[in-house]
Amino acid sequence: MSKQAMREETERLVREAIERRGLTIKQGDTRIDAVCGKCGATNKVTAPKGENRVRYTCKDCGHAQATL
Ligand SMILES: [Zn+2]
Repeated sequence: MSKQAMREETERLVREAIERRGLTIKQGDTRIDAVCGKCGATNKVTAPKGENRVRYTCKDCGHAQATL
């Protein structure tokens, strides 16, 4: 299994676990595809309405930063 396939599989499992728990994203929240400034990975970040600078930690390299 390639590294990329393993990562996609992990993301799918996490997504399914979240859906099973019924943790859906509230209406009005914004989903931002934030690109990590360090490793370039795309992170899905949920921002409250009207907020576009959200602190997050990169899922790939753990680098803490804020969305632009
Ligand atoms: Zn990163």
